[in-house]
Amino acid sequence: MADCLFCAVAAGEIPATVVLESDRTLAFRDINPQAPTHVLVIPKAHHPNVAALASAGDGLLEEVIRSAHAVAEAEGVSDTGYRMVFNTGAQAGQSVQHVHAHVLGGRDLGWPPG
Ligand code: AMP
Ligand code: ZN
Repeated sequence: MADCLFCAVAAGEIPATVVLESDRTLAFRDINPQAPTHVLVIPKAHHPNVAALASAGDGLLEEVIRSAHAVAEAEGVSDTGYRMVFNTGAQAGQSVQHVHAHVLGGRDLGWPPG
């Protein structure tokens, strides 16, 4: 999709620190990390949010979630615990309109979130 930041990352047009890649997904470090582990997992195909990705119904959401867990394992936080977050909409702070799972871990994460 034109003018989409994460489509450009997926296409390799904007550099990213990639931690995991499959045919349909890409995991890369957040540019402004909020925890020792802060990785974003995206489908390479453009979907605006997680609900739209779920509606596509082709197993891609499950692939994103499996990839997020694989990132947590690779980062050594799958046993200590991690958070997978899909900010959806303005009030939740979604700033990039290409669905992305935040994988956060490596410290105690407060609840409720801010
Ligand atoms: P959200 O606010 O949930 O839409 O998350 C967007 C995330 O993308 C933020 O945590 C940003 O720090 C991150 N971000 C923005 N641009 C880049 C980039 N070029 N590379 C990596 N992460 C980015
Ligand atoms: Zn996109």
